[in-house]
Amino acid sequence: MKFGTKAIHAGIEPDPSTGAIMTPIFQTSTYVQSEPGVHKGYAYARSQNPTRTVLEKNLAALENGAMAICYGSGLAAMDAVLRLLNPGDEVISTNDIYGGSYRIMNQVFAKYGIKFHFVGMDSIEKIDAVANDNTKMIWVETPTNPMLNIIDIKMVSEYAQTKGIQVCVDNTFASPYLQNPIDLGADIVIHSATKYLGGHSDVVHGAVIAKEIDIGEKLKFIQNAVGAVPGPQDCFLILRGIKTLHVRVQRACENARKISEYLMTNDKVNKVYYPGLESHPNHEVAKRQMKDFGGMVSFDLKEDNLDTAKKMLSGTHLFALAESLGGVESLIGNPASMTHGSVPREERLKVGMTDSLIRLSVGIEDIEDLIQDLDKALAKL
Ligand SMILES: *Cc1c(COP(=O)(O)O)cnc(C)c1O
Repeated sequence: MKFGTKAIHAGIEPDPSTGAIMTPIFQTSTYVQSEPGVHKGYAYARSQNPTRTVLEKNLAALENGAMAICYGSGLAAMDAVLRLLNPGDEVISTNDIYGGSYRIMNQVFAKYGIKFHFVGMDSIEKIDAVANDNTKMIWVETPTNPMLNIIDIKMVSEYAQTKGIQVCVDNTFASPYLQNPIDLGADIVIHSATKYLGGHSDVVHGAVIAKEIDIGEKLKFIQNAVGAVPGPQDCFLILRGIKTLHVRVQRACENARKISEYLMTNDKVNKVYYPGLESHPNHEVAKRQMKDFGGMVSFDLKEDNLDTAKKMLSGTHLFALAESLGGVESLIGNPASMTHGSVPREERLKVGMTDSLIRLSVGIEDIEDLIQDLDKALAKL
């Protein structure tokens, strides 16, 4: 099956009891047993819920993995993956990762004796320089946030395989429609399903997809033991969102490409960061490993200061000022004063994250209206 057909059909059958074409929301905590221990595969809803099972089968198919497990948020999914590690283990992570991912590594798991190294992953040398016998996992996030660098998943996975290190890819920014890390050699994929998978900014949710059953079973054990499960209604919303994932992401990519081209021509704009532009330093890698270049665009301003950035944020009407991404509606933000406010300024500047950097999550509105909205806001600066 091709992707769009899988998004709508994989793992999804009409409800056997009623014929309902949409997977019902099984709002139940427990299931009746005919004799002690004799049931239809469902005993207690922390361990399993039918709405969740359908979503997990669908996600495993979309990422070409053996097994998927769903969680109450993207960070709960990440928490489960990091619990595969033991005290003394070391992790090498992409340096410009999602702020919450940095926080759970450095402020939660570090205190249990797990060591994290944060490096730029544009070359194997940088990874190899911090690898040692204790290195058990490489954590990749690509495209990165907010600079939209692209990391070569195949290159990193081939290196990791020779060393017996697991590779986990946070595939939130690309979505499974654009990129399938398991096909490129990764062992584990995580998603904040809050973003493109849900797609309508109405639910917080997460998922892990494992290439092999044995890692999947370990994660399943951890989930049942620890209890980070999503509710059935949230699973239903993600299932519904996924049915249009390919159409939404395709349109977001088309819009983002046109916006990046428009921004290149505006004289208030300094630099535009979009992997689809030939001028982007990782354009060739992006072309190889992604189906298209995504719906996220960043740019900074010639007048580089926080005040001008704030004027830009308040100047748009369609682009709403908000955190998050991946919904049908377009969003605008300024990493320096919002998501990355806690990163020291010198550190920000080192990776190109200037005061005036603006990040757009491009939605699926009509492109003429989106460009007009940005054009008016830029003209007022
Ligand atoms: C949002 C996000 C997360 C965290 O997901 P939540 O659903 O907010 O817990 C992790 N990684 C990336 C890349 C994200 O954008």
